[in-house]
Amino acid sequence: MLKDNLHKVQTRIAEALARRTETKLTGTEATLVAVTKNHPVDVVLESLALGITNIGENRVQEAKEKRTVVPDRGVWHLIGHLQTNKARQAVALFDLIESVDSQRLLAALDKAALQQGKVQDILLQLNIAREEQKTGFLLEDYQAVVPTLDSYPNLRVRGLMVIAPLCDDIEATRPVFKEGYRCFCELKKLRPEIELLSMGMTHDFTVAVEEGANIVRVGTALFGKRDYTKK
Ligand SMILES: *Cc1c(COP(=O)(O)O)cnc(C)c1O
Repeated sequence: MLKDNLHKVQTRIAEALARRTETKLTGTEATLVAVTKNHPVDVVLESLALGITNIGENRVQEAKEKRTVVPDRGVWHLIGHLQTNKARQAVALFDLIESVDSQRLLAALDKAALQQGKVQDILLQLNIAREEQKTGFLLEDYQAVVPTLDSYPNLRVRGLMVIAPLCDDIEATRPVFKEGYRCFCELKKLRPEIELLSMGMTHDFTVAVEEGANIVRVGTALFGKRDYTKK
């Protein structure tokens, strides 16, 4: 079941990569992050056994429980909003924090990373469609934060993360992903070392990859619908 789903998702990623035209700066491959949030830890173990290495979780507490069972395998991505008071735990748990969305959080993560003797990899999350219910930097706030990034020596900014609005017509997400890629290119001019552009989830990852994503975060297409009635 998971094996079949994984094969289908990987095929669709490969086909989308083949349809790519102009997005040279993000390379020729895309990394699949398996989003295991709200699924039991068995799902993480099953994913690792099938060769998936990147695991996405959106809550610190849930990731902590899973990492007690799987302490030393996987590359763990935090993809959900992080409160500053959980920065310390997030630095201890995650390899890549994709959802950095405020100056305060940058400062808190930098301090936590210093205390833990770690250089923390992060992405800056953009709220391109200005959705009120979503987090992420608005573009003007992002523009203001870019010149300050060197003041966080314990953070390594590796790129950008974008969530597109949920639309029935996935073509409606394309302009959002195009803008994400444009922001990525602009940032790369200033910081040539950046390389990651995380865009796309189950319903829109093919469009995101066509528009330059090199990380996709997929849950439902791999594991089925999440059951939010449990816990
Ligand atoms: C839950 C989540 C995903 C995965 O969503 P699916 O639609 O199940 O693929 C991806 N990105 C973020 C930020 C999420 O919160």
